Amino acid sequence: MTDLVILGESMVEFSQREPGVFQQSYAGDVHSVAVYFKRLTSPGDRVRLMTAVGHDAASHGLEAALEQESIDTSLVFRHPTRQLGLYMVNTDRRGERSFSYWRSDSAAREVMPLFREATQVAGDGGYLPCGIAPRPDLFFFSGISLAVLTPNTRPAFWELIEQLHGAGTRIVFDPNYRPTLWSSVKETRAEYARAFQFAHLALPGIEDLSALYGVKSFDGACDFLNGFDIEELVIKDGPNGVCYRGPAEHFVEPVTPVTQVVDTTAAGDSFNGSYLAYRSQGFNPRDAIALAAKVSALVIQHKGALVDAEVFRHSITT
Ligand code: ADP
Repeated sequence: MTDLVILGESMVEFSQREPGVFQQSYAGDVHSVAVYFKRLTSPGDRVRLMTAVGHDAASHGLEAALEQESIDTSLVFRHPTRQLGLYMVNTDRRGERSFSYWRSDSAAREVMPLFREATQVAGDGGYLPCGIAPRPDLFFFSGISLAVLTPNTRPAFWELIEQLHGAGTRIVFDPNYRPTLWSSVKETRAEYARAFQFAHLALPGIEDLSALYGVKSFDGACDFLNGFDIEELVIKDGPNGVCYRGPAEHFVEPVTPVTQVVDTTAAGDSFNGSYLAYRSQGFNPRDAIALAAKVSALVIQHKGALVDAEVFRHSITT
């Protein structure tokens, strides 16, 4: 049985269906990772989303949506005054999408102080030895998770990562680079260097590595990341295959290109959640990559990040 904790932000999503008509749901990179992990694992496996919400109706709606997907909400903390972040997906007459965000004061940015407060109580006046109890097997965070943490709360985050790492939790990191969430490339590189140093498994996309480090190929990515002590590397590059470099093998697994791409939202996140799920179910890296690529291929042939649960169940068989 695998116990995964995922830290980050889920937001309210308003997606335009026709002029003036929006469909409301909940989304975020880590939200998608959690959903696909849970859908592909056994009932005994657990995924806890570690985030913060408010007292508003949308926050209660998010918790209900997480529970609907059997995602554990025991690490969802409640901020006294802040609310959920929100974004809108507008589609123009030519079908081009644009995104507007209201997330700069979201509750999720304050997850670390709220977590500390909660564990202090639980730890009888002091911190629990490993912070999160019970200690998870895996801890996942992304570059977006890092970016949304207010800079003054990041030391508490790194302290938690260090505790978990020292206690034997496998640390998983996807850079998921969003330039607008960072004040400078220098800041991003500094934070990512720490993340790569702690990561047992990194799941970067070539696009992100190219934007940040000028790396443009699988070989270039491996060379760059060899500078860190990362046990397993799984490097994504859209339809151009997935590169794996682990302790015992190094290969590129081809991906069958999807000809009719509908919406690439959550391609990488669904891949991450699925890869972790298949690995935790005992698949070797090559098979887990092939199966995760099939899940991502399905996701990009549907609108939005989350494929309807019934459609998903019928489409994905291992
Ligand atoms: P990220 O969003 O992290 O940059 P990618 O764009 O590389 O990730 O996509 C993640 C995964 O989704 C890929 O590894 C691949 O399996 C799948 N994928 C993305 N685009 C395509 C495509 N056009 N055809 C088939 N699979 C794709």
